[in-house]
Amino acid sequence: MKRALVDSCFWIGLCDSGDEWHSTSLDVFSELVEEGFEIIAPWPTLYEFLGTKNLKPYYLDKLKKYIVDGRVVKFDDSPFRERALRALFDGGARKSLVDWIICSIIDVHHSDFSFLVTYNPKDFLDVCKKRSFAIKPERPGNFSMTKYDPLAIEAKWQSRWTQGRHFHVEADPSKPRYYVLEMFPYPSGRIHMGHVRVYTIGDVVARIKRMQGLNVLHPMGWDAFGLPAENAAIKRRLHPAKWTYENIDNMRAQLQKMGYSLDWERELATCDAEYYRWEQLFFLKFYEKGLVYRKNSPQNWCPDCHTVLANEQVEDGKCWRCDSEVEQKDLEQWFLRITAYADELLADLETLSGGWPERVLTMQRNWIGKSVGCEIDFPLEEGEGAVRVFTTRQDTLWGATFMSLAAEHPLAERLIKGKPQEGETRAFIEKIRNMDRIKRQADDLEKEGVFTGSYCVNPVTGLKMPIYLANFVLMGYGTGAVMAVPAHDQRDFEFAQKYGLPLKVVIEPRGETLDADALTAAYTEPGLLRDSGDFTGKDSGDAKIAIADWLEAAGKGTRAVNYRLRDWNVSRQRYWGAPIPMVYCEKCGVVPVKESDLPVRLPLDIQVRDDGRSPLPDNAAFVNTSCPACGGPARRETDTLDTFFESSWYFLRYCSPKDDTAPFDPEAVRYWSPVDQYVGGIEHAILHLLYSRFFVKALRDLGYVSHAEPFANLLTQGMVIKDGAKMSKSKGNVVDPDEMVARYGADTVRVFMLFAAPPEKDLEWSDSGIEGAARFLSRLWRLVTEELAGVVAPTGPCLAQDPEALSPLARELRRREHATVAKVAKDIEGQFQFNTAIAAIMELVNFLFANVEALRAEDPRAVSSAVNTLLAALSPMAPHVCEELWEMIGHKTLLADQPWPAHDPAALATDTVTVVVQVLGKLRGKIEVAADADEDAVKQAALAEENVARHIAGKTVRKVIYVPGKLVNVVVG
Ligand SMILES: [Zn+2]
Ligand SMILES: [Zn+2]
Repeated sequence: MKRALVDSCFWIGLCDSGDEWHSTSLDVFSELVEEGFEIIAPWPTLYEFLGTKNLKPYYLDKLKKYIVDGRVVKFDDSPFRERALRALFDGGARKSLVDWIICSIIDVHHSDFSFLVTYNPKDFLDVCKKRSFAIKPERPGNFSMTKYDPLAIEAKWQSRWTQGRHFHVEADPSKPRYYVLEMFPYPSGRIHMGHVRVYTIGDVVARIKRMQGLNVLHPMGWDAFGLPAENAAIKRRLHPAKWTYENIDNMRAQLQKMGYSLDWERELATCDAEYYRWEQLFFLKFYEKGLVYRKNSPQNWCPDCHTVLANEQVEDGKCWRCDSEVEQKDLEQWFLRITAYADELLADLETLSGGWPERVLTMQRNWIGKSVGCEIDFPLEEGEGAVRVFTTRQDTLWGATFMSLAAEHPLAERLIKGKPQEGETRAFIEKIRNMDRIKRQADDLEKEGVFTGSYCVNPVTGLKMPIYLANFVLMGYGTGAVMAVPAHDQRDFEFAQKYGLPLKVVIEPRGETLDADALTAAYTEPGLLRDSGDFTGKDSGDAKIAIADWLEAAGKGTRAVNYRLRDWNVSRQRYWGAPIPMVYCEKCGVVPVKESDLPVRLPLDIQVRDDGRSPLPDNAAFVNTSCPACGGPARRETDTLDTFFESSWYFLRYCSPKDDTAPFDPEAVRYWSPVDQYVGGIEHAILHLLYSRFFVKALRDLGYVSHAEPFANLLTQGMVIKDGAKMSKSKGNVVDPDEMVARYGADTVRVFMLFAAPPEKDLEWSDSGIEGAARFLSRLWRLVTEELAGVVAPTGPCLAQDPEALSPLARELRRREHATVAKVAKDIEGQFQFNTAIAAIMELVNFLFANVEALRAEDPRAVSSAVNTLLAALSPMAPHVCEELWEMIGHKTLLADQPWPAHDPAALATDTVTVVVQVLGKLRGKIEVAADADEDAVKQAALAEENVARHIAGKTVRKVIYVPGKLVNVVVG
């Protein structure tokens, strides 16, 4: 059959002009059909005409006639059509398909289409002449296809998304919501590849959820207080505020170039008083409730940064920032009583199981470090008092042979005083106190200690136990004293070996005897008790309970629970932070600022000091105030809050970020909370998450929120590395996102980041990888704009099709289309396997490429549907190019607003074909095999067919010939 692809502006006429247009164009089709053409007509909204009530029955009937033959596809006059038609003119490549272009040059009204003149095969001209149509046979000059120009496309769509406020959302209880959040950035000045990775991951989730019909909150802001701003400001002689806000402007522009579907109207910066005033309020509320207190405690102190450092800011005994040796210094500090929630913080981890990585849950559990055991007093040999220990191994009490104390233990002074080794002991104390606290807990720490010269008494054996100070015992944990049981604890064992202290075995494996002198390591497994008074012979597990009962009854000890978790020191001796809303009055002491006087504004009219010390204590206007209680003169607190304070509740503020009457609108928080998907680095797996969890629980108990956990699901993404190492200036292996976007476009960078590694793994930057991503998008561009030019119509994804009416190839395309959508959704949701999702889309593109000629000829509908689906499925990953192509194929609405294509599970089934089986040329059976079954499988099935098997029984099979999809001939003899 002759085939005609006819484009006609007449059909625009059909919808908006007079009758003559209708009859003219319909008559042309009549002619063509009569002359035996099959018509492929990408006309404007032809299907819509069919639904048009006021269309005259005459035209309706005529139209139906052409549509019934299954070759009319929906199309409209998009820029794509223009380009497609130009391409059709552009040479012989499409001649086989495109035979007719009818244009509307007779209509001044459509003069913009005047380039659309006839591609004039003779027979069409004949038709036209017969009908006396005005035809201007002329070919346009050289025309080259539009190249994929990511920068132009990306700028266009970013501005369109912003202008249309497409990603702005409001709480709407009638709609299901989804809150996706990536950890907000510190405004260091420029985004790096790590940022690009985490925000791209979050964006794909946000976009796919939005397409799935959820009301998606996806906000962005700035964790804007903190040391680096201040230090950079000192170096550059700038105000930290100026530096910070300029950085925010830079980074915002960079992030916007990535095309993230963020609701920028919710942007916040924690250094704004509009933000931190509310956490000052929380501080006062916590203080009222006893969750804030002041305490003198030894702190990690960096002499160069003039600040207290958190334990995790100390690396190898050195300041994380400036590498100075960290000292210990006693300071009055503000603490948050996070330990009041230790039990709940631990128990609620159960509720996060499945939603959070198991690794993070374990880290949180270990950090909280709950242990159940007993507190036991060991009386001092000389004078009153006792050393109190906390132990989880009361079953080894009879084996305790010496005592290890922390160097900071309050009894230390008394124990060493006047002893011959006092000088040596004091030197040891000084050395240990200045050691990194984390290092002191490391398993591989070389155990070191010093004898105090004093003894205590084991309360059950009466043994005189030497008291040591040991480097691995910390004051912060338990009681700062450890009863040493060297036969059954490895640290104690190593210590005892080093200092020649006695071992006593009190637990043995069932049926074995342990010799203390022969031990090469501590025996730490359960077993049976020996030499343990009334408990001898008991199982060690049972003995723990029995001994705890007995200790309590005998008044020698009590059951106790101990946590490794410490209260949170929130004081920082820095300028660039939120002021702590407290004042010191000579008469009244520590007095909270009145709520009505909030915010306590950080003064901006300061000079950063060259020596790095905070300028706040010298700022008289800030420091001098009046006492909220008595009105007398008072001084303000000049410490500022740890920046973890700001990041512990920003996700709540996003719910109503402009609220100036409250920290957040409780209704909005109720609607959006908890965050459905949180994405961030594993480096925040402990503190930030723990503090945020604490905040939500504490705010719940203050009546601010009604939920208990901030983040329902957590994804911790890996780092971006290059040449095997984390990108850093000092290593010279930094890849700048801006440069990559300028060279390849944001879509390519996004696709590369998603494709190169599963999100939780480290991603190795590779130039060939990003080239590959760029090639893939160019190929997609070429497929839609060239190979399938004029074929793809805006059908909507996964267009319902009657598979029976399709050719086998089109049916296979349809199967792949549906399978791809199903796989992409499954891989992304819950599993975040963006790489395999993209791989599936690449396969579909390859299949279309490989079969483009045949598919175009056999069924443009199936091709249309597949391409529409392909664009929808890829759009969360590469949103700009997909929007552009979506528009080019004729859609009027944004792809970002499209529903996620619903796949039909039935379409996933592989086709089967009936293959006839002959034996020596005679029909003996039929078998059903999968259309894509391999040759061997078909031959096997053929030989196994019942009737065939009967006919070849006892004979030698000489040859089996397979004609794919049709027949098997078995030659016997
Ligand atoms: Zn430092
Ligand atoms: Zn006062």
